[in-house]
Amino acid sequence: MKVCGMPRPGLRVCSKKKVKVKLPGGGTAVHYKREKPKPAKCAICGAQLGGVPRLLPHELRALPKSSRRPTRPYGGYLCPSCLKLGLQRAILGQKK
Ligand SMILES: [Zn+2]
Repeated sequence: MKVCGMPRPGLRVCSKKKVKVKLPGGGTAVHYKREKPKPAKCAICGAQLGGVPRLLPHELRALPKSSRRPTRPYGGYLCPSCLKLGLQRAILGQKK
């Protein structure tokens, strides 16, 4: 079976990866892979977070928990500097 024809409008972009898939009958078909998610960002300052891979949710679930995000508190949600500031403010606020 020859693969031809125009993909549906939502798939007519270069950012979608084409994957050739073998069909049970021996033919091949072109499937379109979902776009890579944007890098994880800090909830306060918007800086890119390290240690969080840019993978689709089902690919993330296949990874061990320790390689999905940093294991410190708020890891994968706040950047280290915002966490440090927040903790310092929390401690200072308690003393007053
Ligand atoms: Zn931050």
